[in-house]
Amino acid sequence: MIDRCGRKIDYLRISVTDRCNLRCIYCMPEEGVKMVDRSCILQEQEILRVCRIMAELGIGKIKLTGGEPLVRPGMAPLVRQLKRIPGIEKVTLTTNGILLKSQMKGLADAGLDGLNISLDTLNENCYKKIARRDYLRETMEGIQEAMKYPEVSLKINCVPLGIPEQDLCRVAVLARDYPIHVRFIEMMPIGYGKDFRGMSEEEVIELLEDRFGTLVPYQGERLGSGPCRYYTIGGFCGKIGFISAISHKFCRECNRIRLTSQGYLKTCLQYTAGRDLREVIRTGGTDEELKCIILEALAEKPEGHAFLEKAPEDATEKLCMSQIGG
Ligand code: SF4
Repeated sequence: MIDRCGRKIDYLRISVTDRCNLRCIYCMPEEGVKMVDRSCILQEQEILRVCRIMAELGIGKIKLTGGEPLVRPGMAPLVRQLKRIPGIEKVTLTTNGILLKSQMKGLADAGLDGLNISLDTLNENCYKKIARRDYLRETMEGIQEAMKYPEVSLKINCVPLGIPEQDLCRVAVLARDYPIHVRFIEMMPIGYGKDFRGMSEEEVIELLEDRFGTLVPYQGERLGSGPCRYYTIGGFCGKIGFISAISHKFCRECNRIRLTSQGYLKTCLQYTAGRDLREVIRTGGTDEELKCIILEALAEKPEGHAFLEKAPEDATEKLCMSQIGG
């Protein structure tokens, strides 16, 4: 699909649930956010139908997100069926890794292509401070388990919050010692993220170069579907990456749209722009009607975020990341 700015949109991020087993300080409050009634969440067959139609329109890559996708039963069967849809080349999943140890074999057998594991620190106390839960050990066991399946590419997503005890160099060391890419993701001022400045790409690069030496821009083959820019460090097995939507805006190359767990097609992270596909599905809409509505939404896809400017309040997303899918 080509949007109104001439961008090729071939990547769909699907939030399969708004539920999560963590309470990260930059994502939701301690008490969590009001959970959506299960009847409002897209059922498996509804997700598959949307993906079949999206594939016919040119979507080739799918990322399963949440909340925490692995708290929803049936992820491996969903991956298997998504991989069977003609046109869908790649299915990946983002997780906090807590439930991964028990589900990894099923996901790999189902044909999962890649995993992004969210890990902001290896410091136990700092993990509890950020995630408000004590699951660092389970997350590390999930990473160990995932490394047993080299056919599933493995990346770590770390949000540098600027908390000293976060010890970002220790997270980066995972890329030195294992064939894992560690990516640092600049804080997005969405939902509770607005209350955190976080660290910029430059600040993290300075920190890593002080410790490990020069970061050399990586010029090789593309390592994924997203906007991440990778660097190599001498002696490292994996790469170091940066997804810096604020300091290195990449909206001109935007290739993605999002489907929330409630079936709302969001065409840009920052804005409420989009269409309610669930309503059409549950009122007997045809595949052709769904295609028209998806293309209408693409025709209105915002040019880019305005996180550094003053975006129109009424058009700005109010939901938090766990309700959007990041
Ligand atoms: S902010 Fe919007 S336009 Fe920019 S990359 Fe993200 S989704 Fe695309």
